[in-house]
Amino acid sequence: MLATVASVTLIGVDGRPIAVEAHVSNGLPGFSVVGLPDAACREARDRVRAAMLSSGLRWPQRRMIVNLAPSGVRKGGAGLDLPIAVAILAADGQLPPGCLDGMAFLGELGLDGSVRRVAGVLALVDALAPTAVVVPASVASEAALIGRHRICPASTLRGVVAALRGDEGWPLWPQAPPPAVGLAEPDLADVRGQALGRLAVEVSAAGSHHLLLVGPPGAGKTMLARRLPGLLPPLDTETALEVTRIHSAAGIPLPPETLIRRPPFRAPHHSSSTVSLIGGGTVLMRPGEVSCATHGVLFLDELGEFSSDVLDTLRQPLEEGRVLVCRARAAVTFPARFLMVAAMNPCPCGEGTGPSDCRCSDAARARYATRVSSPLLDRFDLRVTVNRPEVQALLGAADPGGPNESTAAVAHRVAVARAISHQRGMAANASIPAERLDDLAPLDRAGRRLLESRLREGRLSARGLHRVRRVARTLADLDERTGPVEADDVYAALGLRADPLAREAVPS
Ligand SMILES: [Zn+2]
Repeated sequence: MLATVASVTLIGVDGRPIAVEAHVSNGLPGFSVVGLPDAACREARDRVRAAMLSSGLRWPQRRMIVNLAPSGVRKGGAGLDLPIAVAILAADGQLPPGCLDGMAFLGELGLDGSVRRVAGVLALVDALAPTAVVVPASVASEAALIGRHRICPASTLRGVVAALRGDEGWPLWPQAPPPAVGLAEPDLADVRGQALGRLAVEVSAAGSHHLLLVGPPGAGKTMLARRLPGLLPPLDTETALEVTRIHSAAGIPLPPETLIRRPPFRAPHHSSSTVSLIGGGTVLMRPGEVSCATHGVLFLDELGEFSSDVLDTLRQPLEEGRVLVCRARAAVTFPARFLMVAAMNPCPCGEGTGPSDCRCSDAARARYATRVSSPLLDRFDLRVTVNRPEVQALLGAADPGGPNESTAAVAHRVAVARAISHQRGMAANASIPAERLDDLAPLDRAGRRLLESRLREGRLSARGLHRVRRVARTLADLDERTGPVEADDVYAALGLRADPLAREAVPS
């Protein structure tokens, strides 16, 4: 007898519908799975058999072939265990005819017959036509976020069979976990002093300008970076869905019963491998940190400690907003559009912002400055030095509108500046094409003269010129001045693009 069960497999962060066909016939007992299964999927045979026996179901002593169609699509992971088990039971006549109509199944089976969670449920369910979908109970609320399907939570294979036979109803929805507490984003009001650093994160948020913070340990670089996502606008439904699917596919715990609505903040360690940063893997192709940071912030602390090979792999996502991951038999494209924020010490001893404090030799400093390649350094529109705050600033009282402005106040200016940029048809000022700068970010006469003199002195390169003009546009937008960019904006933008590593003969 033949039975067909609808299911879905994950490719990158997208689901692909799969038909699981089971054929059971008389003949030499045996069981094979065909149709491009990967190793985990081939092992389904052992898990399905054990789960069925543990659940008190009969394992057919017959000839069984399971085909996963379409055969050209590679099927990964263990999420097809449950549909394979259901297809075999139906083909063996252990389920009433017609009970699988309009239903789809996904889930991994434990040897004890439990139905276990699979990664990427949001993307998996999204790829299915509106049907009833049986999903692992632990991810039922995630599956329900799509809102087009009837979600049937399943915790055991025995329960699934009982519900399909009409002996029992589908299990009740699991109790929602209590809402997470204490996950509020840190507030900019906690940052004392740091006028330049605060301006830098505000400009970075307003124009999506990549930001490099250089300073000694304890200067508050990480503190500033962690406050950047709070300045970004909340995600709209489309981007929230995209971010949630990526995090779901990466197996990152999701907020209970809701999409991710805030821009993510990802901070991979400097010992991270290429796979964890870019994505990939042997069993399942998983998105990496650059994808998980999509529509949010990728924070690279201690930038100089990352291996240059790992940093090189950032080139494609920075240029294209996506990353292509190739493995032996598959190539998958993941979205990777993030705001890059990095932090590093000015020199090996960490104290090198003032020459008197630094204990490093000139040679050591020069070597350190080459840790980060010029092309990568050039990506940062904003490069600022942050020093340890003065005692006065640490003790200073909060002053609204002054140095201790809150995240809410700054986020409001950011939202206004972004709205001005959108009116020009730009997602953000950092992406204004060079050939449109004269049109979208024209300079007033004094501003033009200032840039001309910097270029003539060799203190600004052609590419640096474009970046300075984009930042100057953002500064004017933050001030709600939509006319030509003024000399003050240009001057401030130049101040936000210093070369804090003091590399010689590298005009910024
Ligand atoms: Zn030093």
